[in-house]
Amino acid sequence: MTAGEETPVVRYARQGPVATVTMNRPDHRNAQNSAMTYALDRAFYRAADDDEVKVVVLAGEGRHFSAGHDIGSPGRDAHLPFDRKAGLWWDHSDKAGAESRYARESEVYLGMCRRWRELPKPVIAAVQGACVAGGLMLAWICDLIVAADDAFFADPVVRMGIPGVEYFAHPWVMPPRIAKEFLYTGDRMPARRAYELGMVNRVVPRAELAERTRELAERIAEMPRMGLALTKRAVNQAEDLQGLHPGLDSVFGLHHLAHAHNAETARDSLGGMDLAKMKEAGS
Ligand code: ZN
Repeated sequence: MTAGEETPVVRYARQGPVATVTMNRPDHRNAQNSAMTYALDRAFYRAADDDEVKVVVLAGEGRHFSAGHDIGSPGRDAHLPFDRKAGLWWDHSDKAGAESRYARESEVYLGMCRRWRELPKPVIAAVQGACVAGGLMLAWICDLIVAADDAFFADPVVRMGIPGVEYFAHPWVMPPRIAKEFLYTGDRMPARRAYELGMVNRVVPRAELAERTRELAERIAEMPRMGLALTKRAVNQAEDLQGLHPGLDSVFGLHHLAHAHNAETARDSLGGMDLAKMKEAGS
């Protein structure tokens, strides 16, 4: 939970072989603060540890899957210390400049996303409404994506002078030329277009999103656990052999060059952009 919020920021429920992990900050379009990141981590760990769970569904409560990282809600907690689970970077909260940003984002963004991608059970994202910037990272670490017909995807952070979100999977989840257009324009990609590109597996009516995702999860759950775990590993390894793992590392450096440039030349490491300014600029 976050100060001022009485309901859990992530809900966990198991029904048969399917665990559903639901981001639960609908009033803030499921913007991810560190409280949510660590609640997600606990939920994924629980699903991994429970032998009854064969498949995990990641969902967002409310109208939107996730509008991205929390850059403006009252529960924003980027300045606070956090547990460190994904790596051994030290506490960022009492450090300055690039050291603080690099330590924090290595853990809560890149590190956590990599950790969750390795969960040895299939994870299916059920996406509706906005899946923007930091929201993309959460959808992309899932093995499959089922999108509602009202879902859209966007990464508008180039407006901050930054080459995409911290988990730079763009040219692996869509063709490179489309990735450039997606980033250069910051435009919303509708679910149908994402389906044409192979970025999502299914597009379903909004009212049927939960049910259709569950049907798919239950079908997959009939497979043996070890077969699923090894298959996931096999495809993830293939992606890494196609450069995903070192690609993420190299672009993470560019991402932090951009944050540092902003901090030197603008008001802050986000280029003076907050939620209100990003909205004004059309995202
Ligand atoms: Zn960043």
